[in-house]
Amino acid sequence: MAVAEEDRHLRLTGEFDCDTTPLATLRHSTSHVMAQAVKRLFPDVKVAIGPAIEDGFYYDFAKPEPFTPEDLARIEAVMREIVAADHPFERQEMPRAEAIAFFRARGERFKVEILEGIDAERVSLYRQGDFVDLCRGPHVRSTGEIRAFKLLSSSGAYWRGDERNPMLQRIYGTAWLAQEDLDRHLWRLEEARKRDHRKLGRELDLFVFHDVSPGAPFWLPHGWTIVRELERFVREVLDARGYAEISTPILINKRLWEQSGHWEHFGENMFRLEVEEQLFSLKPMNCPPSTFVYRHALRSYRDLPLRFADMGRLHRNERSGTLTGLFRVRQFTQDDAHIYCRPDQLQDEITGMLDLVREWYKTFDLQPSYKLSTRPDKRLGTEAQWDAGEAALHQALKTNGLAYEVNRGDGAFYGPKIDIFVEDVLGRSWQIATVQVDLTMLPEQFQLEYIDSDGQPKRPMVIHRAIFGSFERFIGILTEHFAGAFPTWLAPVQARVLPVSEKHAEYARAVWERLRGARVRAELDDRNEKLGYRIREAQLRKVPYMLVCGAREAEAGTVSLRHRSGEDLGPVAVDRVLADLTREIAARAASLTVGRS
Ligand SMILES: [Zn+2]
Ligand SMILES: [Zn+2]
Repeated sequence: MAVAEEDRHLRLTGEFDCDTTPLATLRHSTSHVMAQAVKRLFPDVKVAIGPAIEDGFYYDFAKPEPFTPEDLARIEAVMREIVAADHPFERQEMPRAEAIAFFRARGERFKVEILEGIDAERVSLYRQGDFVDLCRGPHVRSTGEIRAFKLLSSSGAYWRGDERNPMLQRIYGTAWLAQEDLDRHLWRLEEARKRDHRKLGRELDLFVFHDVSPGAPFWLPHGWTIVRELERFVREVLDARGYAEISTPILINKRLWEQSGHWEHFGENMFRLEVEEQLFSLKPMNCPPSTFVYRHALRSYRDLPLRFADMGRLHRNERSGTLTGLFRVRQFTQDDAHIYCRPDQLQDEITGMLDLVREWYKTFDLQPSYKLSTRPDKRLGTEAQWDAGEAALHQALKTNGLAYEVNRGDGAFYGPKIDIFVEDVLGRSWQIATVQVDLTMLPEQFQLEYIDSDGQPKRPMVIHRAIFGSFERFIGILTEHFAGAFPTWLAPVQARVLPVSEKHAEYARAVWERLRGARVRAELDDRNEKLGYRIREAQLRKVPYMLVCGAREAEAGTVSLRHRSGEDLGPVAVDRVLADLTREIAARAASLTVGRS
């Protein structure tokens, strides 16, 4: 949607300049009011375009110096004056030539350029007070309807998004129908800043990036503990569901990528190396290599389905300017699997996978949603294959009782797919996982076969699927979702034992050793610091439990238990802490339970 609105302003496609919904109309109108305020404060500035975008609006201005935060505050104050004046938005139509003359007389060269690039006979202008803009609307009736808005930031942006064009100054703002919506949005933005996984990754010693290897994290012990716990969890789940784990090489000869078509279609994203005068590439995906495992033996219809999981380490050559923390990396580890099955097994396989997806996300308190993408115009395979593939996906979603959207024509060229999104605690939606039916690509390119019950060789189908995408990105999302306060089973340090003073060090050490004996990741903090200081530090490190050991506790065989939230649960017997804690970890519970019942 965001792109479409910008496009409408730049290319003047569509009937209006913004979506006609009340919110988009309000935001578009707010951008006009902002431009009016900017012109009032900076009369020499030229205006470019000002579309509504997701969650807000922007306007681009030609101004030699960037806007400062003080400028934004002044602009916002003038906007409030314009709102209070309650100017009506008035539409005026005129021949295009007249509009060109109008804007040329005012030196508004971007408006002139837009007008010269279109072939409409007549165009429309919108006026509020002393400000006139080339615009097709729609707008709210008057500036007085604009109440809940805020300017957020400004940054450079090229005219028409092209780096050969002049650099403009863009101001972003947000506007809502009600003050409480604005407040909630601003709270979400603030929370998102606080939860930024790059910031938390540093503060909690999870990972670091270094320019010796752009786009590839150096995992620190705490971060790697989270990777290992996820691996352990996914392996348990897959073992229980009849998957077999495989591992295929990272460095693979160009020959394979030519056969799979990646060299031609994906080559720009692959890292190439020359070894003994032959070209190799770091694998960007696991699909082609997994076929070697399939082809290693003669397969019969009785062997299928074969579910091969491959948590392969992948590399893709993303441009360094686009790399973003764990969200956009060059090296990543997919929780990948390829299921080779007969056509009659397709639906059961997909049904099982969706069940697995549901189980997986429940553990993380994340709400999945589903989109089914169907046959695109350009595609491989027969209509009968597509009919069967799409029907299997519809049916599997229904069997699991899942609501889903259909994206017509958005499937891969080799088969339909289900994309899985999750909504985090801030209401942000992340596309995480995908289930893709491969009707023909791998089976044909690699001549895959099984011997059917009639003794004839047939092509299997392949399902490409991931449950959470990549470890890197998923950990980035989890870090932000939990604000670094991971559930105990994932927390790098699960408990910290704190002696009140030196006198209680021996008892504290005994408690610590019991925790470690029960395989709880526990630390002993017997530093010569005040207890309050050590408690605060454990809380900042988001350690789920603090076990404080003093004279009374040593006497009674208890600890004084505290949660990282600051809650003090008082004395609890060490035996009970151990039993509850190990149970909570084994159950992979989403919230803290020890000492509560
Ligand atoms: Zn407009
Ligand atoms: Zn694949």
